Amino acid sequence: MLKRDKLYINGHWAAPSGNEVFEVINPATEEIIGTVPAGGHGDADAAVRAARNAFDAWSATTPAERAEWLEKIYAQMQSRADEMTELIIDELGMPFKLTKMIQVGLPLATMESYAKLVRTFPFEERVGNSLVVKEAAGVVAAITPWNYPLHQIIAKVAPALAAGCTVVLKPSEVTPLNAFLLADAIDAAGLPAGVLNLVSGSGSLVGERLASHPEVDLISFTGSTRAGKRVAELASAGIKRVALELGGKSPSLILDDADLAEAVKGTVKACYLNSGQTCNAWTRMLVPEKRYEEAAKIAVETAARFTPGDPRNEKTRLGPLVSKRQHERVLEYIRIGVKEGAELLLGGVDVPAGLERGYYVSPTVFGKVKPDMTIAREEIFGPVLSIQTYRSEEEGVALANDTPYGLAAGVWSGDEERALAVARRLRAGQVDINGAEYNNDAPFGGYRQSGYGREMGRYGLEEFLEIKAIQQPQG
Ligand code: NDP
Repeated sequence: MLKRDKLYINGHWAAPSGNEVFEVINPATEEIIGTVPAGGHGDADAAVRAARNAFDAWSATTPAERAEWLEKIYAQMQSRADEMTELIIDELGMPFKLTKMIQVGLPLATMESYAKLVRTFPFEERVGNSLVVKEAAGVVAAITPWNYPLHQIIAKVAPALAAGCTVVLKPSEVTPLNAFLLADAIDAAGLPAGVLNLVSGSGSLVGERLASHPEVDLISFTGSTRAGKRVAELASAGIKRVALELGGKSPSLILDDADLAEAVKGTVKACYLNSGQTCNAWTRMLVPEKRYEEAAKIAVETAARFTPGDPRNEKTRLGPLVSKRQHERVLEYIRIGVKEGAELLLGGVDVPAGLERGYYVSPTVFGKVKPDMTIAREEIFGPVLSIQTYRSEEEGVALANDTPYGLAAGVWSGDEERALAVARRLRAGQVDINGAEYNNDAPFGGYRQSGYGREMGRYGLEEFLEIKAIQQPQG
């Protein structure tokens, strides 16, 4: 049992204002593995005050000094990498190898990358007789979800600190323990008091308090469209800057000249990553009508190999869903899919064999999914793939774009030029051609209801900067 009973405010571990706690559940065993404080308004206020007080000195540091601080944090994170991996497997249920590589490896790479970037980023430029200065936006509230918990925290904290902002972090109540371990690392690095503060608490209490707090300048939010909308509403009263990284219903558009087997396998794999709990997962596979039967067969064969199991088993590729709530939600979407007439080709709502304990869902594939069906339109956040068909490239592009979201997309074709031309027509923030590898420094963010603002790399740093023009007399 990991009992974290303090919040990290103003450079030390402080007792929360109340006694309530959140229990953290291991989704593979349904056992309670730890508790964290359920902070309240008073805690959020204290954290914002600390961040505000620290802002002037921190924002006045040089980029090179901030780079050194990020390097120190990186070193402390690195020394806790194994512990972090164990913790995230227990909190989230993602299989071991993937947790190590993605949940822990990526945030480390991000921290390192911002330490480098901040040394070379042009914080100033000349425009005629103006000196244009990019400076820290102020006090940042970072509100993060549970699906890639540390990655989403670092995608905000690293560029915010690099920019010279101070931060109040509110992690998800579902997977908060990794944020406490990060605060340990930051404390050990000796970051000045108040530059990074951690308040665990519910979205409705702490999250909303931060979003409406007069001393918060910018809110960086990742999570559901519902909560993001609420955050933006609250922030609008104070004309605060907001960056929203929300959900998606991303298409994988397989063109008629694609290597079908490779494209379908790549799509299934991307759809099921982290048990489908991935904001940019390709959950709609769009295939030419004349190749539907073939594509469906490969999809079922590929999906069937994702046997759900214990995330601690090295061979497991599909762990449980994160929580009972998420489990119920996903099963309900599967029921809706069946009810609305989609063809259930694999999986369904039955408990996977031998997994009576834990929030497991069988890999599920729906065929003949119509564009107006709920499972084609709403984010399910589980291992559920919907196959849709189209007749011409034109129709395929229209179908791919027929979504209220716009976070990601895939295009598959034997002809790179053609794939690129199609990629340009897709209304999404990230488009991968033929399963191209993830680029941790490329801008990440959405169109439409997937939100606004960009994370990662240079674009992610710019989110946390204000722009000032200083005019100087021309001599
Ligand atoms: P939420 O959007 O509710 O949670 C994300 C974060 O926002 C959490 O820290 C949460 O706090 C906080 N939050 C919730 N409500 C508010 C509010 N009113 N004001 C401020 N902060 C708030 O996601 P859920 O956990 O409820 O997941 C539901 C669905 O959202 C998923 O099934 C999935 O479809 C989508 N989702 C998308 C994600 C993405 O990466 N795009 C990530 C997570 C979820 P708390 O600690 O109380 O949860």
